[in-house]
Amino acid sequence: MNPTAVRTFVEDRLEDYLAELKALVEHESPSGDKPRLDALAGTIAARWAGLGGEVDRLANGAGDHLVGRFFGSIAEKPALVVGHFDTVWPVGTIDRLPFRREGDRLYGPGAYDMKASLVLVAAVFEAFAALGLAPRRPVTVLFTSDEEVGSKTSRALIEDLARESLHALVLEPPLADGSLKTARKGVGRFGLEVQGRAAHAGVAPEQGASAVVELAHQILRIQALNDPASGTTVNVGTVQGGTTPNVVPAHAMAQVDARAVTIAGAEALERAMAGLAAATPGTRVTVSGGFNRPPMERTPGVAALFERARAIGAALGLALAEGSTGGGSDGNFTAAVGTPTLDGLGTPGGGAHADDEHILYKALPERAALLAALLMEI
Ligand SMILES: [Zn+2]
Repeated sequence: MNPTAVRTFVEDRLEDYLAELKALVEHESPSGDKPRLDALAGTIAARWAGLGGEVDRLANGAGDHLVGRFFGSIAEKPALVVGHFDTVWPVGTIDRLPFRREGDRLYGPGAYDMKASLVLVAAVFEAFAALGLAPRRPVTVLFTSDEEVGSKTSRALIEDLARESLHALVLEPPLADGSLKTARKGVGRFGLEVQGRAAHAGVAPEQGASAVVELAHQILRIQALNDPASGTTVNVGTVQGGTTPNVVPAHAMAQVDARAVTIAGAEALERAMAGLAAATPGTRVTVSGGFNRPPMERTPGVAALFERARAIGAALGLALAEGSTGGGSDGNFTAAVGTPTLDGLGTPGGGAHADDEHILYKALPERAALLAALLMEI
């Protein structure tokens, strides 16, 4: 019952798994493209059913989500495995960036983030069946269709499944050095609308109230909310306003990205943004938005889960380290409902969302063995 047998099993069939990955990558699946996402969901659902999974396909207007339940007869609280099958790549990218192997690298849009993780899931359950192995508890596998656009339609599902699970294993790519992710910043997005009063800039400027001047005040107030020491950062990323130079501008707007390391920090920032009030008489400021991904905090539960993973990895000959990232994932949601979460369990590589996106394909067997071992031992 040694999980290293899983590594050997996957190594022996590596070319088959790479062919499976090629087919997944060549089936392009950008977020929002329902026909393509649904077709891919059908392929994945059939694969999971063939592996003994009980598959629920959740109809969704922007692309269906998939839940596979494996080893449901084990009377324990389940482990949750989380991934997504949408990508950031528009249809046709595959013609420009074809699936190809160069040295240790396997290139392809969406291979690293995160279609290789679909292969990991398939390989693990195939190995379990072939080797007569079983996880310690039932495994719920959730793959969503909208992670790359903020998980708006899958958030409630992710949170519900996380609440009923003992822990969550997220198959996003690891950090650049292969480290697992035990903390992620929360991600917020705010919109600022300033309403003023238009007037002729030459004839009657005193009758106007400049929305652009008011926005300038607000920009400086927002930038002053930056607190790098506590991990809270804000960035006024876009501004827009006015119509033409000889009109006192009646309208201006800005978009703001916000990040926070702690849930308390995110809430404080939301309060500060909501409290912004106009400084210029005759103008009105409206703030919209908020944190769409809460921070994934490194709680004691997360730390303990990583410690287990580190020991399990060591037994497989893997020296696992942990780290944090400013980017968000669905792990932010599983962690925020209090479920210990370990992220970055995908295949090492690089170039997420970039033209050189690739996996280090020789690491696939060891990552499959790691996932198998986590499922078997925790
Ligand atoms: Zn991803």
